[in-house]
Amino acid sequence: MSYWQTRREFLGRTACGVTAGLVWPLRMTHASGCTARAEGKAEGKAGPFEPAYLALHRSGELKRRGEELWDVMRRCRLCPRECGVNRLEGKAGFCRASSQLVISSHHPHFGEERPLVGRGGSGTIFLSHCGLRCVFCINWEISHLGQGRPCSIEDMANMMLRLQNMGCHNINMVTPTHYVAHIVLALDQAAAKGLHLPLVYNTCGWERLDILKRLDGIVDIYLPDFKYADGRMAATYSAGAESYPDLTQKGLLEMHRQVGVAKPDPDGIIRRGLMIRHLVMPNDVGGSCAVVRWIATHLPRETYLNIMSQYRPCYKAFEYPEISRPITQEEYRTVVEYAHAVGLTNLDIQGFPD
Ligand code: SF4
Repeated sequence: MSYWQTRREFLGRTACGVTAGLVWPLRMTHASGCTARAEGKAEGKAGPFEPAYLALHRSGELKRRGEELWDVMRRCRLCPRECGVNRLEGKAGFCRASSQLVISSHHPHFGEERPLVGRGGSGTIFLSHCGLRCVFCINWEISHLGQGRPCSIEDMANMMLRLQNMGCHNINMVTPTHYVAHIVLALDQAAAKGLHLPLVYNTCGWERLDILKRLDGIVDIYLPDFKYADGRMAATYSAGAESYPDLTQKGLLEMHRQVGVAKPDPDGIIRRGLMIRHLVMPNDVGGSCAVVRWIATHLPRETYLNIMSQYRPCYKAFEYPEISRPITQEEYRTVVEYAHAVGLTNLDIQGFPD
């Protein structure tokens, strides 16, 4: 999720006192978030949509899956690091998260993809810590240092309901992997109190397949990154995560199997499907054309792909000369043209930042 660059910009722009956010500067409107929230109240609950998790909640399966995932933390293998630590005894693995839930912020967010934002915003819950830990993460205070405040599962359920009441179109869990058990249990509690928004699983893409399979019927929208085509690059810039391309590709196929192609409803809002993000990196560190080619080859051509242009060096990126600059217009254009050339038809193209 290297779009973290833009989250920092959100800190400075928001007028509603939230602590962090995700924003695409080229899409940012100058209306305050507070105004947009008020407008969203009238629109956020339209349509007959029922999120996938409600049926599982009614049958008791949602709670059972949450408890099953919770038990995985006993020898934690929730993410591909597979640390094996007992988080239930307060220990923390590579992600630095114990079983104590830590949340940085929750708020309606107007900088996500337009079909997620609509007029009511995307109901973002921003989780602290991260198992991937990229050296260029703009949000390193939260993902690397774990800034945030301890919360209970009930707190998280109440946040979901608050975001729904504010008119958001979805519940958007940012960096969910290491807290997936907490999320499912909170979802079950919130569903009991009337939550009916689609759940967005906003992930770095590096997931364990058997964990993803346990989310079948729970997640409505998968929003994964596909950061690297080359495992050596992933290992260099994401703390040894050499398996990133392989696991991400397997994960994308599973996500697509579960939720299919993302298609907007008549009101322009996407409520189900796979939405992939790829951040173009300087000097083709991400292997952008290979990423795009893989998507065009293995997934339907109408798969939603957001080609992101906003890379900015930050955190430890300056220790790596090849990623210590923004991308050029030419680098971005090359990827977009290639995506068109291989036949992808559902591209989210942002233009180019100044
Ligand atoms: S979620 Fe954290 S503790 Fe669990 S395997 Fe991943 S990095 Fe290790």
